[in-house]
Parts: sequence; structure tokens; C-alpha cells
Amino acid sequence: NLNCELNIPKSDVSRLRKIVINSLYSHKEIFLRELISNANDALEKLRLTSLTDRSIWDGSDHLNITIQAFKDEAGNGGRLVIADTGIGMSPEELTTNLGTLAKSGTSDFLSQAEGGDQTSTGNLIGAFGLGFYSSFLVADRVEVASVPPKTARNPNPIQHVFSSSADDSTFEVYPDPRGNTLGRGTEITLFLKPDAQEYLDETTLSALVHKHSAFSSAFPIYLFERWTEEVPDESQIVSEHGVEKEIEPTSPPASESDDDEVIVEEVPKVAENIPEPPPPNMVNVTKEQWSRLNSQPSLWARDPKAITTEEYNLFYTSFFKDFSKPLAWHHFAGDAGSGVAFKALLFFPTKLGEDYWQKPLEYASKDVKLMVKRVFITSDLGENALPKWASWVKVVIDAEDLPLNVSRETLQSNKFMKQLKSIIVKRMIQLFSKISEGDDKETFDQMQETFGSVLKLGAVEDTKNRVKLASLARFTTNQRNNTSFDQYLENRKKGQNQIFYLAEMGKEVKELAQSVFIEKLHARGYEVLLLTEPLDEILIGNLREWKGVSFQDVAKAGLKFGDEGNEIEQQKELEEKFKPLIEWLKNESNDAVRDVILSNRLVRSPCAIVADQYGYTANVQKMMSASNA
Ligand code: ADP
Ligand code: MG
Repeated sequence: NLNCELNIPKSDVSRLRKIVINSLYSHKEIFLRELISNANDALEKLRLTSLTDRSIWDGSDHLNITIQAFKDEAGNGGRLVIADTGIGMSPEELTTNLGTLAKSGTSDFLSQAEGGDQTSTGNLIGAFGLGFYSSFLVADRVEVASVPPKTARNPNPIQHVFSSSADDSTFEVYPDPRGNTLGRGTEITLFLKPDAQEYLDETTLSALVHKHSAFSSAFPIYLFERWTEEVPDESQIVSEHGVEKEIEPTSPPASESDDDEVIVEEVPKVAENIPEPPPPNMVNVTKEQWSRLNSQPSLWARDPKAITTEEYNLFYTSFFKDFSKPLAWHHFAGDAGSGVAFKALLFFPTKLGEDYWQKPLEYASKDVKLMVKRVFITSDLGENALPKWASWVKVVIDAEDLPLNVSRETLQSNKFMKQLKSIIVKRMIQLFSKISEGDDKETFDQMQETFGSVLKLGAVEDTKNRVKLASLARFTTNQRNNTSFDQYLENRKKGQNQIFYLAEMGKEVKELAQSVFIEKLHARGYEVLLLTEPLDEILIGNLREWKGVSFQDVAKAGLKFGDEGNEIEQQKELEEKFKPLIEWLKNESNDAVRDVILSNRLVRSPCAIVADQYGYTANVQKMMSASNA
């Protein structure tokens, strides 16, 4: 799909761009998230490149993102300027990265939207983002000034501008007439549409950053704020020591020290002969300040007691781009061996990805995000990847003391990663247990619906955690729903020394409940597990017994009620009585059956054909003959 789009003609690009822009009109605020996300990527690229090439960035200046609004200037609409000190772009990169639709997240969005998947637009945006083109949701014209870092090869890079308007898809790239004003990085100027002037309001901007990006940028985001305050006229105030008081200077980002100024408006002089001046005189002072928007500690670093459910939900959505609420979460701190302290947040989604059950067992998790001191390092756990049953979990782990320049390879072979894997799995099981034991019925039901089969898969796949996972699995029986193996054992009848089950995959539980094989058991009050999933039979085959009690397929020979003793006499009598009939049946059936016996397991049905105790069940026989065919 992407390949096709690389070749689409320019006119189509502009048409597509219009369609996208119109269909997303009500989501136009996402432009800010997309631009911040690009700035964050550019900073991250710079940081990573500098690990191998110190000349690109020696750590002496700060990596940050700044947002600055310029309100209506002489009747022209306002401008919003978003800048970063990241990797920047050469003129060629400006052309290819921003000039072609296929480079942008837009193409992913379109191919998904055309793919017929009618998920809501909101979810699509969440999954793909719209990339740079979302600028045109709010701007008629966009100018991107950019300059790559100085290197030995390119000691004097020239700052270029990419300029494009919303109504045609053409663009220009030219040397910036202002010269190299940025030093390094990218500055995006949005000439806001008349109906998008609200994005000049600092309160709106600040709220938007908090909503979408506060959690996802590891680098500081600063907003230039300007406000008017009534303060005592300090020209009138003299301190005890006769020194004029000064207004506290505001603290800007370290890299922006030039902007550290406080502008005091012209103050009208107070007339001299007023007898009783109203103390103290107030004046309007316009203050300006770079304020950091994402300065509060990351959610995982905060005290769980002080975090609301709303905040967890919001974090989950913005960090993992999943627009449904998480089912449950675990917020914990720990130590992953060798003194590596970390904080972590682990989430269960409400639903599994649509392809989860289609994917092979080596299903690589994408959502275990490893950070070191708030800087994203990797989501690739390499050889320490989670087992398939656990691969859907969404986790962010922020380690304290891991050296920042650990390479991926060392990370993956690291003891730390191994530890991490077992910690995640342990915490997942804990969270499942907590939901199972808690009294939130709705969450429990949802957990069983979404993860019921996952727990069984885990019990089959993960031998180390088999018992714990199997005890979380729930089954339907002839008597009730959601029965665990333990609950089954508690409900055993006196003398019962087997766990009864009937397995027929693909059948309805209702059908199984009516099977001749459980008639008598049911009538006598025995509980029978009714297994309809392929995984059920495999699990029971793996377990063989639960707490010393073996599993018994009620469709196989070997069934014991445990209260047979007093029936033996009666059974002998009946055997005598029916001997002629049985002899006759044996004769008639010839070799079609191995044996004909008098059974005590039926209530209403006159007879049943059962599989040999050590033979295959009818179920497995069906599969075998199907695969031989
Ligand atoms: P995506 O981020 O999904 O690649 P975008 O449309 O958001 O798509 O961005 C397209 C490309 O433009 C990016 O991959 C990147 O190479 C480049 N780019 C965008 N913004 C910046 C920036 N602030 N600094 C450096 N490069 C950028
Ligand atoms: Mg992007």
C-alpha cells in the first residue's frame, strides 16, 4: 500500500490531503501532539547519534522543545511557533520528509482508512497519528526552518526553509533569509487559520500539552507565557535599607537565557500633591516567562496514593495510544538485581489485539517500554521477550541507575532484562489474582472474557508458572459458571476421588450438559467440567492431576464415583439377570466393539458407546481420521 502511495501524482496528494483534513476537522487539536512527537523524535535521534559521535552534541547545551504564540499582528492571523534543538533537516531532507505524503503518518492513516476497517476515526488517529500534515488542520501556511548539527564533514550547515500552503500541495525549499538563527534543530511556524486562533491562547496550549504530550516527551517542553498582573508600584516602595525592591526575575529554560526579561509597562507618574496617597499604588505589569509544561514528575515516579483513576486512564491513553480504558493496572517500584532500582506501571488492556490469536507463539510484545531516567531506550526485550501468553501487557519501566549509553546488545544480554521479564510476569499474575479475589464483578467478568483463554495458554506454555496460572483459569460445569479447579475440589462429594470432565471442542456448553455421559453424575449431584476449547483438553493433559486428584474424562472408562461399595451386591445381581442379553449383544455386535458391559453410569439413556480408558476419545479419533483423510 505504501509503495503505491509513493507513486501517487501530486494532484492526488493534494486531494488526499484535503480529504484527510476535512474528515479530521473535529480532531484538529491533534496537530500539537503530532508536532511535539516529531520534535521529541528529532531530539531523541540527536541524543542517540551523539552516543557514537560526540561532535554532534557534546551535552553542553540543552535538548528541549519550545512553544511560542504570537497573537494577531496588524490584522494578520496569529502565528504559533514550535521549535526543537534536535537533529534538524538538510534541504534534501526537508523535501523528502515533509514534501511527500508517503513519508508522513498520513499514508498509514489513509491505507488503514481505505482498508475497510471501520474503527472510529479517533482510534485511527490514536494508532497512527497524522504526522506533519496535521499542521494543515489549523494552518493555511506552514514554514519549517531547519538546520542539521555542525559536524566535521559539514562544519557550516545552512539553515533552510520549507514553505507550503494548505490550498495547493506545492512547496518551496530555500535558504533562510535570516541566516542560521537556530544553531541546530527545527522551528515550525504555523500561520493559523481564522477559526484556529484559539491555539494562541496559552491556557489552551498548556492544557493540550498536558492532555496529549505531558507523558510522552522525555525532553522538557516550555511554553512562553505572557500575562498581566497587578503589583504594588515598586518605584514607590523603599525597603528598610533604602534599596529599591526588584521584581523577582523569572527562570527560563537554561538554553533560553536571552529571553529572561521582565517588561514593566510605562507607569504613569503619581501627582505630587495628593494629601493621602492610597497605599500602595498598584500598577499593571506584564510578565513573561518560559514555563515548563511537563515538569511534574512522570506518573510512575509519583506516589500511587496521590494519583486518581482519571490520571491513570489519561496516561494509559496518551502513552500507549489505546483509546479504551485499561482494565486494571499495577503501579510498583522494585529492584532488578545488581542494585538497579526502577519504577514501573503495568496495564491490562480491556481487549486483546485483533490478531493476537492468529499470531504464532513468538509474538513480540511492543508495549514494554524501557526508560532510563525518563528517556526512552527500547521496547525490544530481545531474547528475554515475554512468553506469548503475556506479550499483550503494556508496561513502562523507568530504571534509575542504568548508564544511559548501554547499547541494545548489552541490555538484552543483561541480567537486568532477565530479571525484568520475571518481574513483569510475576506482577501480571498478581494482578490477575487480585481481580479474581476482589469483589469487582464487572472487572472480573471482563477479565475472564478477554483473558480466559490467555490464562489457559499460559498454564500450558509457561511450565514455571503453570500451577499459578491454572488456578486462575475458570470453567463452566454442569452446575455453575466460573469454577476454578480449587473450587471444584471444595465441591467434591464424599468419596469422590476424581475430577470429572467432558471435553468436546467446538461444541456448545449446553450440548455437553445434555450428554449421556454425564446423566448419572448430574443426577447424583456430581460436578462435571464441561470443556469446549481446544486449550482445555491440552491443559488437562498437561496437568494430569490437581492437588493430587486426577482428572477423569467421563466419556472414557475408568470412572469411579467413590461410593460404589454398597452397590457391588446389587451390581452382581443385575449382571446375573442381564447375562443372556449381554451375551447376545456381544455376539450380534461381532468385532464392532471391544466389549459389552452392564453400566452404572446412565440414567435415562438405555446405552452408550464409550472409548477405551487408554484409547483416544471420540473427539481425538474424529480429528485423527480427519487428518488422515
Ligand atoms: P512520522 O513522524 O510518522 O515519520 P511525520 O509526518 O510526522 O511522520 O514526519 C515526517 C518526517 O519528517 C519524520 O519522519 C522526520 O524525518 C521529519 N521530521 C518531522 N518533524 C521533524 C523535526 N521537528 N525535526 C527533524 N525531522 C522532522
Ligand atoms: Mg510524526
